[in-house]
Amino acid sequence: NGKLNIFAGDPEKIISSILKNSNVKCVSWNRLYDPYSIKRDTIIKSIVTSSKIECDSHNGYLLNEPWNIKNKSGTFFKVFTPYWRHCDELLKLKDIKFKNTKISYANSKFKNEITIQDLNLTNKKEQWIKKIEKYWIPGESNAKLQLKKYISEKANNYSIGRDRPDKNLTSKLSPYLHFGEISVLEVYDKVNNEKKINPENKKKFLAELGWRDFSYNLLFHYPDMTQKPIQTKFNKFPWIKNAKNLSLWHNGKTGIPIVDAGMRQLYKTGWMHNRVRMIVGSFLTKNLLLHWKNGEEWFFDTLVDADVGSNSAGWQWISGCGADASPYFRIFNPILQGQKFDPDGDYVKEFVPELNNIPKKYIHNPWEMSMEDQKKYNFEIGTSYPLPIVDLKETRNRALSAFKTIS
Ligand code: FAD
Repeated sequence: NGKLNIFAGDPEKIISSILKNSNVKCVSWNRLYDPYSIKRDTIIKSIVTSSKIECDSHNGYLLNEPWNIKNKSGTFFKVFTPYWRHCDELLKLKDIKFKNTKISYANSKFKNEITIQDLNLTNKKEQWIKKIEKYWIPGESNAKLQLKKYISEKANNYSIGRDRPDKNLTSKLSPYLHFGEISVLEVYDKVNNEKKINPENKKKFLAELGWRDFSYNLLFHYPDMTQKPIQTKFNKFPWIKNAKNLSLWHNGKTGIPIVDAGMRQLYKTGWMHNRVRMIVGSFLTKNLLLHWKNGEEWFFDTLVDADVGSNSAGWQWISGCGADASPYFRIFNPILQGQKFDPDGDYVKEFVPELNNIPKKYIHNPWEMSMEDQKKYNFEIGTSYPLPIVDLKETRNRALSAFKTIS
């Protein structure tokens, strides 16, 4: 029965006006760690404290805050494994308790208050929302249900599921974590204390929560990393511009089945399996030699879990220019990746129905079908489904040569 007051506009002005015109005793918020939010919240904090009002900020977003995690030499970690070993040890010592605190809302009216409808959040994007709504139910209770389902139905197969886009075995908690619909500490605690999950699967899953924290650890210490490579030598990397190839990648029409399935899954559902995020990312930045920012921006626009920290860290990782990143010379072969992680082609078939009727052995390389087989299966490469937009071997060599120019 509470009431949420909604405002739109410059947060500094809005908060100053509320403080002036009502009897506020304390201003409380959860901290965020991206440069924009840090700047905004620092200004707000100074406005509140200069009004002699109490400030009360909390960590609700990360397992460990970046400034609390230091290596033996007193600086921050740039490599994930020692970082996570250290964080995990700290977490195991923490006495995690959850309280259900009831918030009593003030029943106040404000001059500049608006309604949720006034924000016009959905109108312009109605078609998009209708599509996405089929796959996601937002809200705290659903976040909790999703976690419960993960623990009871998927957690014991996570080591397999984290690599297999054809199996629905990951938690799909990322958008809920991003929007603060569930706390990452709660996810960590519930999974860690669940005796039915075997240690290997538990360890792997908790380490993924660690990657989320690690991304923010990097962003906090490299606030430019949304725009600039952490490894500065990549400032000179000979990226190429090719609007046509970028558009084919956006639309899942590259002629490489696992890449197209991933890009279409993203556009249709707002989410993509992590293994496929890596495959499409390697294809964009290595086979197409397009700048990682192209990928980062498209993901940011289309993911339901779009998150400044994880997205920029993920793109810097896959393109090889980040801290503790996959080396640039490790170039995924999308055919082999597909055959290994989607062996029956079920994932590809779900999102690329043009390939539904061809034999399993050609799902990841349909251009290798003989004319005879194409006729037999009523499939014509180049017409039913595009030919690959680039030669994988040639572009692999081109990427390696480009890398040599900066190494
Ligand atoms: P699960 O496998 O169930 O993992 C549980 C949770 O751990 C996730 O919800 C997520 O919060 C965290 N997590 C898992 N893997 C990673 C990872 N590699 N890096 C950071 N956190 C991780 N994740 C986002 O939340 N937002 C993004 O914008 C985003 N962009 C990415 C871009 C690229 C190029 C890559 C390679 C990865 C990106 N990721 C991003 C990480 C990862 O792909 C997603 O977090 C994961 O696929 C979400 O699905 P899930 O909840 O089922 O994950």
